[in-house]
Amino acid sequence: MHFPEACDFVVFGGTGDLALRKLLPALYHCDLEGRLPVDTRVIAVSRSDLDDDGYRAEARAALAEHVAPEFQDLAAVERLLERVHYVTVDVQDSSSWQPLFDTLKDRENADEAVRVFYLSVAPSLFGPICHELGVNGFAEAPARVVVEKPIGTDLASAKAVNNTISEFFDESQIFRIDHYLGKESVQNLLVTRFANTFLEPLWNSHSIDHVQITVAETLGTGNRADYYDRSGAMRDMVQNHLLQLLCLVAMEPPIEIGGGREDVRDEKLKVLQALKPMTPADVDRDTVRGRYTSGWVGGKPAEGYVDELGHESMTETFVALRTEVQNWRWAGVPFYLRTGKRLDRRVSEIVVVFKNAPYDPFRQREGVTEPNRLTIRVQPEEGMQIHLNAKEPGPGGYRLKPVSLDLSYANAFDKRSPDAYERLLMDVIRGNMTLFMRRDEVEAAWAWCEPILKHWESAALTPKSYPAGSAGPTASFTLIERDGRSWQES
Ligand code: NAP
Repeated sequence: MHFPEACDFVVFGGTGDLALRKLLPALYHCDLEGRLPVDTRVIAVSRSDLDDDGYRAEARAALAEHVAPEFQDLAAVERLLERVHYVTVDVQDSSSWQPLFDTLKDRENADEAVRVFYLSVAPSLFGPICHELGVNGFAEAPARVVVEKPIGTDLASAKAVNNTISEFFDESQIFRIDHYLGKESVQNLLVTRFANTFLEPLWNSHSIDHVQITVAETLGTGNRADYYDRSGAMRDMVQNHLLQLLCLVAMEPPIEIGGGREDVRDEKLKVLQALKPMTPADVDRDTVRGRYTSGWVGGKPAEGYVDELGHESMTETFVALRTEVQNWRWAGVPFYLRTGKRLDRRVSEIVVVFKNAPYDPFRQREGVTEPNRLTIRVQPEEGMQIHLNAKEPGPGGYRLKPVSLDLSYANAFDKRSPDAYERLLMDVIRGNMTLFMRRDEVEAAWAWCEPILKHWESAALTPKSYPAGSAGPTASFTLIERDGRSWQES
């Protein structure tokens, strides 16, 4: 791992949503803070017939829209745009690639520049792109390739995607992004667990009752409806983001974090391999699929999923499930996961619920005690809360009340919290793979999800309805309440 002096950051799909909304603003912030290698070029590639100036105009508009007003610096925007280039290539047409190859060679020390190939295109184009780069000699290390989800739609197709990429790139050059891992609060979970001593003695089945992971969205499928209908909540969210969060909660302490070793990824893989496999009976009992019907979100009417889509569909927009990590630390501790669209709130959080005190010396007749909870908020406001029982002030004996210790990053650190992509793009440039998914992790996650997907498919049951703007289908409450527990709303 080293920080290069020169870098060509090539974005295939440079005119697309991800590139304009996330990648360019992230590169802008990195440059603004002097973190990009001095000699960096950003080379956008797509089929649209544009020249450098035409693309720069699009990029300028995107930065104006997607960078917060307080960080808009016109001089810095122009400084970045001077280093942005555009090349028209239809990646499926070999004869159109030469201008890109010429551009890559047309710089000082072309052989020393680290080349990052960001595949911000449909996965069906990963093969043609890797093939052209490989056969034309552009896939040699230190070149790196970055891919976004979805990596396959099941185990076989994920293996096929991985095989396609690894035909030309070594695993040490392949960066599979899960942007949740780039979020500050998610990295802080590692710091909280492994740079403090107070939690570790409690972080096991002796003290922890259960863990909840919720990723709730108020948005519907928007302009990704066709993609989403082929995917659904299980493939789009659980297989990647929710299982990655679960791994970080459950993994054993790694030897080193962030130093370029494989420890974190090794430990995450062990968690995925320890997930309790689901039999068809488990799927029936421990999973819930839901789909939104019309309702109200944020005071506005919202259409149901099928009406939005315009045709019948069996796709789920909500999943809740119960699983266990079958190892010494976690034996018998349920992990409840849920995610959905068009819900009543936008929140991503992990809630670790501790066991009740073994004995109540206060003999509570008044007031309430609740089990201690640690809540890690991933969004909207990144932070952490510890829920404790405290004495309510007053002379009348012990009246207990739950209170929370609140750590908001915005308040605790007088610093902007960077977008996940900023951290991840810099890690790609420096070659740090810790926060990226390794092939075996992706495939282990699919291997665990597959029996669930297969059983749902063979049972051919319509997902359970929930009104847009609600907290999800009733069955998701039954799933947890039958164990004598309830979903925690922070
Ligand atoms: P998009 O808006 O549809 O953009 C696709 C890009 O690919 C466009 O720039 C398009 O430009 C280019 N393209 C299509 N065919 C091409 C070809 N034959 N040769 C060269 N360029 C071609 O897609 P997106 O939303 O940015 O998503 C990109 C990838 O990231 C997808 O795999 C998506 O699943 C994944 N992803 C996106 C998001 C997100 O927030 N958008 C989130 C997670 C994952 P031309 O039409 O000009 O060629």
